[in-house]
Amino acid sequence: MSRPAGAAPQGRLFVLSAPSGAGKTTVCKGVIARDPNVVLSVSHTTRAPRPGERDGVEYRFVSASEFQKLVGEGAFLEHAEYSGNLYGTSWAAIEEPLAGGRDVLLEIETEGARQVRERRGDAIAIFLLPPSLAALEARLRGRGTEDRAEVDRRLAIARREFAAARGFSYFVVNDAAERAIDDVLSLLAAARDGRLGEVGKRFRLARVREILDPALAAWLAD
Ligand code: 5GP
Repeated sequence: MSRPAGAAPQGRLFVLSAPSGAGKTTVCKGVIARDPNVVLSVSHTTRAPRPGERDGVEYRFVSASEFQKLVGEGAFLEHAEYSGNLYGTSWAAIEEPLAGGRDVLLEIETEGARQVRERRGDAIAIFLLPPSLAALEARLRGRGTEDRAEVDRRLAIARREFAAARGFSYFVVNDAAERAIDDVLSLLAAARDGRLGEVGKRFRLARVREILDPALAAWLAD
């Protein structure tokens, strides 16, 4: 039976951040494939499409001047520069699904995540961690979508992103994609059922640091 107009509960806003190479895209795709109530927000970017990426599907690909025009119009919930390109989440991308009672997942970098936390205090912020620094570097070099210089740039950014991780509420370690997908799904379900306080305990940084590679745990500590 359909609800009367206006009575639908608002969806929840989730942010998932991770350094490049932590497996964020795989985890997000797995989450939306398994939870039909979650939609992945489609961001705007000035980055050139990679082979196979389609406008309006992976991203909305725009020029720098179009992006700046949208910034001027207040079209973005958040936006940030990443490795020389601009990325942003438009209000338009999230408002409709949220109003329709669907949860929205933002797959964004840490500066954008900080802006979301500031503007939408109810957003639930999850940081996805690689199991080790070596795993992060191996994934970045192995996927072959970036050249060597770009991989080096992304590794340098990763260090700053780990420093920003402490502002996040929940941490999921991606040592196996299926397990990480299960963990994110359990956080989403807990938020929906009002059990986040209880379920979230095992995803707090203090707990998760215990199972991380020591070098990575040290990066998260300083
Ligand atoms: P990529 O170029 O690999 O697709 O994305 C580079 C980085 O930008 C990733 O960390 C990705 O999560 C992030 N990103 C994608 N969309 C957005 C967005 O709308 N806002 C922000 N702040 N970051 C984004």
